[in-house]
Amino acid sequence: MARVYNFSAGPSMLPVEVLKEAADEMLDYNGTGMGVMEMSHRSKAFEEIIETAEQDLRDLMNIPDNYKVLFLQGGASQQFAAIPMNLMKNKVADYIVTGQWAKKAYEEAQKYGKANKIATSEDKTFSYIPDCSDLPISEDADYVYICHNNTIYGTTFKKLPNTKGKILVADMSSDILSQPVNVSDYGMIYFGVQKNVGPAGVVVVIIREDLITDDVLEGTPTMLKYKTQADAKSLYNTPPAYGIYICGKVFKHLKKLGGLEKMKEINENKAKILYDFLDSSKLFKGTVVPEDRSLMNVPFVTGDADLDAKFVKEATEAGFVNLKGHRTVGGMRASIYNAMPTEGVEKLVEFMKKFEAENA
Ligand SMILES: *Cc1c(COP(=O)(O)O)cnc(C)c1O
Repeated sequence: MARVYNFSAGPSMLPVEVLKEAADEMLDYNGTGMGVMEMSHRSKAFEEIIETAEQDLRDLMNIPDNYKVLFLQGGASQQFAAIPMNLMKNKVADYIVTGQWAKKAYEEAQKYGKANKIATSEDKTFSYIPDCSDLPISEDADYVYICHNNTIYGTTFKKLPNTKGKILVADMSSDILSQPVNVSDYGMIYFGVQKNVGPAGVVVVIIREDLITDDVLEGTPTMLKYKTQADAKSLYNTPPAYGIYICGKVFKHLKKLGGLEKMKEINENKAKILYDFLDSSKLFKGTVVPEDRSLMNVPFVTGDADLDAKFVKEATEAGFVNLKGHRTVGGMRASIYNAMPTEGVEKLVEFMKKFEAENA
C-alpha cells in the first residue's frame, strides 16, 4: 500500500528513512542478534543508544552543559503534575493560557499550589497570543509557564513573555526541533515526542541543573522527581527503550539534513505555501491572526460546516488524511511537522484549488 500524506496533529508522520532503518534493524540490532525491543536497558548496546540520542539532541539544540536531558515516560501530560511537584517551592506559579494544553497544565497545577492565570486568549477561541510584555507576574512565583506552540489552535509565541526574572517553563511538544531555540531563555523545556520526533509515550525534559533538587512537594512520587531521574540518567526503571531509539534516529536524521537552522528554512517555506494560498483563497481562510501563526499546525475553515465535511471526505479519498479540525475550532487543520515533505503541502494546495473551483 502507498503511504498517504498524514496531516494528523499527533501521532504524526515520521521520516521514511528512519522507519526503513528501524525495519532493517527490527530482528538484529547492530549484530547483537536481537531487536531493541528485546534488549536489556542495562546493556552496552542500549547504553550507547540513549547516550548517542542525548548527545545528538544536545548538538541539535545547542543545549548548554548546565542543563540535564531526561528521557521519561507518561507523555507531555504527566509533566503537568511533575512540574509543580518539582518546581513549586513557594507553591505559586503563573500560567499563560493560550490553548487547551496550557489550560490543562494550569488546572493540574492548582492541585499543588496557587496557579495564577496571568494571561489568556480564550475570549477569541485562542486564535491569538496575548501581549506578554508586561504581565502581572507574582512576586513569589516559582516559574512562568507557557505552551510554546498551540497544537489545536495553530498559534505560536514569536516573542517570549517578559517573566520579570522568573524562570520560564515551556511545553514544546508540537514545535520542538522545528527551528533553533535558545535553551538558556528557559528553566525547563519539555516535549512529548509524538508530534515532531518519535513514538508516543516518551517525554523529554531539558532542565537547568540547579532546578533539580530534593526540595520537592511532599508526596511527590519517586518516579516523578527529576532528581531521581537525573541521578539515574533516565534509567531509574525500564525506560521506553524502543521509543528512545527511534527518537535517536530522528535526531541523527535532522543533523544529516543540516540541523535546526535548515529545518526552520524548510518549515517556513513549507508553511508559506499553505498560508499564501489561504490568504488568496475565496473559499478557505485561516483562523489565526497572521502575526501569531504556527509553522506546524494550520487550522482553516470554509465558513460552512457541510462544505468542510465534504472537503475532509474528498481529501481523505485523495490521500490527504487526518485533516479534520479539532472540535473546538471546527473546519480543518493541517499539521505540517518536520517529517511532512514540502511536496505534501504543495499537493494539498493543488487539491484545495481544485476543490475551490468545483465548489465556487
Ligand atoms: C499533544 C500535546 C500534549 C499531550 O501530549 P501527551 O503525550 O498525549 O500527554 C501536550 N502539549 C502539547 C502542546 C501537545 O501538542
